[in-house]
Amino acid sequence: MANASSQTSVQAEPARRQLARHRVREAIRQMILDGANRPGERLIQVQLAKQLGVSRAVVREALMELQAGGWVLNTDNCGAKVTPSDPARLIDAFEMRELMDGLAARRCCQRITVAQLRELHEINDTMDRHFQNGEWREGGQLDRKFHLQLVEIAGNQMLSQVASGFLAITKFVTAEISDPKLPAQHHRHLLDAIASGDSARAEQLAREHVHSNRQNVERALAAGTPLHWLAGGKNESIASSTE
Ligand SMILES: [Zn+2]
Repeated sequence: MANASSQTSVQAEPARRQLARHRVREAIRQMILDGANRPGERLIQVQLAKQLGVSRAVVREALMELQAGGWVLNTDNCGAKVTPSDPARLIDAFEMRELMDGLAARRCCQRITVAQLRELHEINDTMDRHFQNGEWREGGQLDRKFHLQLVEIAGNQMLSQVASGFLAITKFVTAEISDPKLPAQHHRHLLDAIASGDSARAEQLAREHVHSNRQNVERALAAGTPLHWLAGGKNESIASSTE
């Protein structure tokens, strides 16, 4: 029989502590998304505990959860670091997203509501205007919102946990798009396939869309064109910020 005291402590984790861990996890996730903590940057447990008004143990647990979702790396006694966006890792993340976005699109066919479809079209139209005005950062934010929303609608908790981490890795860069109208066109075709319930086509279009993003980034890397951080509105070459 398992040790009674450890069993009790696992089963009877106070709801308050669980809530604190979720709150801390979301706060750190938001800091990463906002660009307050950049890829490769250390997340110091003591500092985070003080800043968020919780114990180091709660911060450590939240960091371990974030590690499982691909947001941070190397949780140890001192802390962790935001998953670095070196070129190889970026390409890996895009490859994973091809699979996950395909799955999300397939699942959306059975689940999406008319209201959700309308909202996605609105997000996409606004994104389109930003890209056509050369506003990459604003357009990029709406692109991620679009993809995250599809993942949420897909209704698979494990998928949304993992996919948001990979989306976070690929969010930090943008490569110039040859035709700024293209991303919105891809999204519209995808939404049409989802609306018609054609799951095979929806999956294929979602995968092709992420694949073309990956190709843009690969081309930029091969040509030595700097990729840019989107977070925080700073245009810095990716090479200067990797570890
Ligand atoms: Zn997109």
